Amino acid sequence: MALLELRDLRVALEDGTEIVKGVSLAVATNEVHAVMGPNGSGKSTLAYAIAGHPGYRVTGGQILLDGEDITEAGADERAQKGLFLAFQYPHAIPGVTVTNFLRTAINAVRKSKAGVDDPIPVKEFRADLFAEMDRLKVSRELASRYLNDGFSGGEKKRVEILQMAMLRPRMAVLDETDSGLDIDALKVVAGGVKELVGPEMGALVITHYQRILDYIEPDYVHVFVDGRIVEEGGPELALELEKTGYAKWDREEGKEAA
Ligand code: ADP
Ligand code: MG
Repeated sequence: MALLELRDLRVALEDGTEIVKGVSLAVATNEVHAVMGPNGSGKSTLAYAIAGHPGYRVTGGQILLDGEDITEAGADERAQKGLFLAFQYPHAIPGVTVTNFLRTAINAVRKSKAGVDDPIPVKEFRADLFAEMDRLKVSRELASRYLNDGFSGGEKKRVEILQMAMLRPRMAVLDETDSGLDIDALKVVAGGVKELVGPEMGALVITHYQRILDYIEPDYVHVFVDGRIVEEGGPELALELEKTGYAKWDREEGKEAA
């Protein structure tokens, strides 16, 4: 059974503008799917809708996690069920340290699993946190800083992956986690994702460029233009796109609109 399934998903902005125009795909554990598309095609809108952002309205279709319909579920409920979104533009939360944020998030997931409060022991948390920070080359100094407050672009993206590593979600959606990273940071981030994808986790890697896919080879590639999947294939499709770009489909879309 698919871990994450989108069935003819349609998403509109609050003003009613339809951005995602009927997307179907299914990601299983142990699989990496790439959604590749040009700027403005609706990739982040798709990611937000999957995560349950209240600013985006599902106007048709369904989102299923582990076979369960979560289309109407709140973002927190989805997270507790094991869905994780790494944001393209992570928000700063002044007043909340990275450590407190992570501990709160982990304990929320643990509580929902156990049915009662089941906070992670402090020693275990700290050991896990520092091990993951070292592995992902996140400076330990960031642990006591306010989340994303004054972080560089690269630090924000690494801390997104740190959150993923700590939370151990079932399904990770990464929205342009590669943008703004230099090659070394990209390798670290890609390595972090690759280590987690397996029998316990699947991933949807959303990207404009194929660069990150050199380090996380996708099992499936979905080309996404103007709110629709216009072509699907294996990893070779990503390489093809690197050469040709999206012009082919963009033109087709242009003709259709004209
Ligand atoms: P991508 O991530 O592929 O670049 P987005 O999903 O960010 O695309 O944006 C798709 C379209 O929807 C763009 O035209 C963008 O301006 C618009 N859009 C997305 N989110 C909002 C929002 N919160 N308010 C207004 N317009 C939005
Ligand atoms: Mg985007």
